[in-house]
Amino acid sequence: MRTERISMGDDRRDGRSRARAELEGRRVLVAGLGVTGAAVSRFLVRFGARVTVADDAGRDKLSSAAELSDMGVEVCAGGSYALPSEDAPSMVVVSPGVPHYSPLLGNARARGAEVISEVELAYRYIDSPVIAVAGTNGKSTVTALLGRVFKEAGVKAFVGGNIGRPAIECLEGEDRPECCVLEVSSFHLETTDTFAPYIAVLLNITPDHLDRYEDFGRYAATKMRLFEFQDPDDWAVVNSADPAVGERIKDGVGHARLLRFSAAAGAHADVFIRDRDIVFVHPDGGGDEEIYPASPGRLSGPHNTANVMAVVAAARLFGVEPEAVRRALASFEPLAHRMERVRELDGVVYIDDSKATNTGALGAALKSVEGDVILIAGGRGKGESFEELAEPVREKVRVMILMGEAASEMRTSLGGCAETVEAASMEEAVRSARERARPGDTVLLSPACASFDMFSGYKERGLSFRAAVEAL
Ligand code: ADP
Repeated sequence: MRTERISMGDDRRDGRSRARAELEGRRVLVAGLGVTGAAVSRFLVRFGARVTVADDAGRDKLSSAAELSDMGVEVCAGGSYALPSEDAPSMVVVSPGVPHYSPLLGNARARGAEVISEVELAYRYIDSPVIAVAGTNGKSTVTALLGRVFKEAGVKAFVGGNIGRPAIECLEGEDRPECCVLEVSSFHLETTDTFAPYIAVLLNITPDHLDRYEDFGRYAATKMRLFEFQDPDDWAVVNSADPAVGERIKDGVGHARLLRFSAAAGAHADVFIRDRDIVFVHPDGGGDEEIYPASPGRLSGPHNTANVMAVVAAARLFGVEPEAVRRALASFEPLAHRMERVRELDGVVYIDDSKATNTGALGAALKSVEGDVILIAGGRGKGESFEELAEPVREKVRVMILMGEAASEMRTSLGGCAETVEAASMEEAVRSARERARPGDTVLLSPACASFDMFSGYKERGLSFRAAVEAL
């Protein structure tokens, strides 16, 4: 099992000593003061940097402002920060919520500052091998599942990034984990310049966040940066069945060793399906086939088969024994708000898939459900087209109940594919679904949109669905 990071360049001092040497006395700007910005600021202060943090929100909205001020951090709220003409920051650490085209970042670059994401900062000082999980959908599931695998194998792993704790907290305390599993979003990858995971997993690329990127090509290119700095000792674990990924790996992925997985029937891949099982052949293992279940424990649906393949590949490449992987798969509890069954009432099953915030996730949800679907969808669109959902909606959805800002656009794109009604609240949507559902149907909340027009986030949206369903 590999528990040392070996590609650390010439400087073999441990990460914390390097952090002290590189950060002490350095003027650093942290852009964005959410959970990540606060964690980054604490880390920087601990290693002696002089830290300013800037956020567009008012001070009353920044819950860690007082704590950070007490630590000596200069907090600039309400967009009040301007780059000083003297003693300007030589490094800017960007939180995921701040887009790469923000004028502040452009100005800082023009003045010679390096602009990096929190994941890049953490990576520079993490001494453990890093497994990074990227993709439009499935990141949290795969990251959490890998965490479960390492627990089952008795490997001390830090699990975080876009899920749970920010990556920089891997460097908290003095203990060094044996492995660091990081969920990374395209936002993290916009500003990396050395980030080279030992194992980089790419699950899929489908349209998302097109309000932040010029077009799909730019978004996909940002995801592919995952592989940019890897070296020949590293692994790229990729879903060759995903059209956008398959297209982009035809000629390899930079310098890393490539391992392909595919849940498509008859696919040529290193991890594939045979007789409803997953077959994995370890590239260094003498050609023996290992068999894993395609829908283990409570994980169901074709998209989860792809997720399980990614987990098997990453865990086995890392050196975890097959039995530990199997035990973890069998005992994993799927994460809340991802195809979560809430209740069965009068022969109708109610499923909460509130985390489906883009069209790819809704497409995967429709493939996982048998029988007719009463779909509750809508919310805040992110610049994607809903047209590509026409076929699965026509095939599976009997009634579509639309909510939120995107309702009329979705009606225009998909209204011809199923009976369509609108609802002003989650309670109304759920009541309307119940009236229309027949025994054997599934009422599915899978919005294909962000939730911020009506809720504080996907969790609140899912909980409000659950509450309305339980009240029926
Ligand atoms: P992420 O962290 O990338 O948002 P999650 O595991 O939280 O991924 O799942 C988000 C949504 O995507 C859920 O609706 C889930 O059912 C769906 N999903 C999970 N894995 C996949 C996959 N491999 N392909 C498509 N959709 C998926």
